[in-house]
Amino acid sequence: MNTSQLRELFPNLSVRVYGKPLVYFDNAATSQRPLPVIRKLEELSLEKNANIHRSVHALSSMATEEFESARDCVKEYINASDRAEVIFTSGTTASVNLVAFSFGEAFTGEGDEIIVSEDNHHSNIVPWQMLAERKHLVIKVLHVDNDGHPDLGALKGLLSPRTRLVAIPHISNVMGLVNPVREICEICHAGGVPVLVDGAQGIVHCKVDVQALGCDFYAFSGHKVYAATGVGVLWGRKELLEKMPPYMGGGEMIQTVSFSGTTYAGLPEKFEAGTQNIASVPTLKPALELQKELMEGELRQEYDAVHKYLYNALKSNPRIKLFGVPRGTVEKIPLYSFVVEGAHHEDLALILDKMGIAVRSGQMCAEPVMDRYGVTGMIRVSLAPYNTMEEAEYFIKSLDRAVSMLI
Ligand code: PMP
Repeated sequence: MNTSQLRELFPNLSVRVYGKPLVYFDNAATSQRPLPVIRKLEELSLEKNANIHRSVHALSSMATEEFESARDCVKEYINASDRAEVIFTSGTTASVNLVAFSFGEAFTGEGDEIIVSEDNHHSNIVPWQMLAERKHLVIKVLHVDNDGHPDLGALKGLLSPRTRLVAIPHISNVMGLVNPVREICEICHAGGVPVLVDGAQGIVHCKVDVQALGCDFYAFSGHKVYAATGVGVLWGRKELLEKMPPYMGGGEMIQTVSFSGTTYAGLPEKFEAGTQNIASVPTLKPALELQKELMEGELRQEYDAVHKYLYNALKSNPRIKLFGVPRGTVEKIPLYSFVVEGAHHEDLALILDKMGIAVRSGQMCAEPVMDRYGVTGMIRVSLAPYNTMEEAEYFIKSLDRAVSMLI
C-alpha cells in the first residue's frame, strides 16, 4: 500500500474546508476513521444490533462474538498474558479514573503518596488529585527537564516507602518523546511500586507490548488509533485487577445479587458494569489490524521522510521554539509543539485553518507543561501515516505566510 492508496481508505481526508483541500494535522487529538471501521460500524447497526452476553438468541450471540473477538484482538495486539486483563472503557480518561478509584480504594490510605509526571495530560493528573483529596494522599511531581524528558535521577529520590503508584505517559501529547517506560518501571518496581502508563499516544506510535514494557496498567483510547469514538482499553496485571474492587455496580458485573449480600463477577466483567459500547468496541479490531500494517508496512519510509522534513524545517526557523527535543536514544514521534516569537498561537491556528490546515492550539489539556515552559499555549502539529510531503511543504509555506501577516 502506498500513501495515496492509504488515503483512499479515509473518506474524511478528501473534504474541502473554505474551498481548500483539508490538511489534517490534528491526529493526536483524533485520527481519521478508515473504511473498514466505518463498515464495521454499519454492519453492527444494520445486522448485529443486540445486547451482549445476556440473551440466548442468535443476534445477541453475533453481537457477543464481535465484542469478545475485539478483546482477543487487543490481547494479541498488546501482548497481554490473559484476555481477562483487557477491560473495555470509554477511553483513556475513563481507564485512568477506573484505576484511580478502584486501586486507590484498595491500596491507599492517609499519608500515602502518588508520583505523577509533569508531562501528563490532565487525564493522568486530575484523577490522582481527586483520589488524594478523598483519601488524604500526597501527590509528588516528577518534573521534566528543559528538553521535555522526565528526570529519572529525581524519580529515585521521590520514591519512598509510602509511594503507592507512579503515573506517567508513554508519550506526552505535548512533548512527543517516547519516554523510557521500561527503565521507569524497573526503578519503581525495585521499590515495589506499580506504574500506570497513559498510552493514548503510545498505542499510535509504538509497538506496544505490555509485558516487555513491564508496566502494571496501560490505558488507551480507540479514537486516536483509527477506531470509533467512545471506546477505550484498560489493560492491567491480573493479580492487581483481581485485588481491586469494582468501580461501578450494576448489570453484568455480578455473580449473585441478594439483599443479604452480593458477590461480583470475575475479570473482566467485574469492571464492565451496564451495557457496554456494543456499537463501537468491535471497531477496535479493524482499527488495530490497520495499525499493525501501518507500523510494519513500507509506508514507514515516506512517513519518516515527512517527519524528518517537518522537524528540520521547524527546528531551523529562528522564530520558532520547539518543545520536546529528542536526545540520545529517545525517539521523537511526528508531533511538534511550538511557539512562534511575536505571533499568538490562537491567531496562527485561526489563519492556518482558513488555509485549510487543521492544527491544535492552546494548552492541550496539559496546563502544568505550559507553566513549566512559561507559555500560555502552543501550536501542535501531529501527523499520521496518511499525511504527505506535499501537505508538509504546503504547511511550512502557509505557516511562513501566516506569521508574516501577524508580525
Ligand atoms: N492522554 C493523552 C496523552 C492524550 O493525548 C489524550 C487525548 N488528548 C488523553 C490522555 C485523553 O484521551 P481521551 O480524551 O480519549 O480519554
